[in-house]
Amino acid sequence: MTQPAGLLVFGAGRMGRQVAEAAADQDFVVQAMVSRSQPAQAGPAPWYDSFDAVDQPVQLAVDFSLPGGTAQIANWCAQHGVALISGTTGLSEEDDAALRNAASRIPVLWAANFSPGIHLLTQWLEQAARRLTVPAKTQILDLHHVHKQDAPSGTALRLAKALGGTPNIESRREGEHIGEHRVQLALDGESLELIHRVTDRGLFARGALTAGRWLMDQEAGQYTVSDWLDAGSDR
Ligand code: NAD
Repeated sequence: MTQPAGLLVFGAGRMGRQVAEAAADQDFVVQAMVSRSQPAQAGPAPWYDSFDAVDQPVQLAVDFSLPGGTAQIANWCAQHGVALISGTTGLSEEDDAALRNAASRIPVLWAANFSPGIHLLTQWLEQAARRLTVPAKTQILDLHHVHKQDAPSGTALRLAKALGGTPNIESRREGEHIGEHRVQLALDGESLELIHRVTDRGLFARGALTAGRWLMDQEAGQYTVSDWLDAGSDR
């Protein structure tokens, strides 16, 4: 049985609310939700529009804000010695630099996607790219809800990196799709299509919190989803 740890949720939108709701099941106590806009519904913890009001003990911060916000939470975590999980995508150079700087003082894990299924898909694509003996035409479709601000998605960019070369990425923003990625490899006379579809946004929140539990035990540094997930496997 793990000890409950103090959690700060940064960003109180679709994802921040999922994190706050999943926290208790993962032995976290949400001490505060910080975001520039008030959550649509009252959450399980007090909401603040600035870090100044946060005076409860916090061991982990989880960031699902928007570009520009990540630099703020990274600086705050570095100053306060708090481990940081960030899932915000479409980061600015300033955000990236703040995450790098923070990692010299605290453990930081940023990921475009906290789904174990996407991690598996990424590994398959890396393996396929290494093993393909014929040239493949590759295409990625990234399908998300209309509110999503960045395109292509951070996940589509990660999948493209795994494939190597320059896959064609098509981003569609329709309705309330939580997230779907389709990868097509057109080979010589045959084709492969791999589809990852999210049916529950809580998946990302549970992943971020589980990764956070692991991250709190690590030294200062920058970590990836592979560091976390592969730490729990034999390979
Ligand atoms: P959202 O628009 O519903 O919520 C964003 C929240 O962040 C809002 O409460 C907003 O007030 C707050 N915010 C934004 N900038 C801020 C700032 N500078 N200071 C304080 N608060 C700020 O967005 P969402 O759907 O919850 O997604 C958030 C981010 O998470 C997006 O970048 C999205 O792409 C990403 N995301 C990542 C994963 C993953 O697994 N890594 C999964 C889903 C979404």
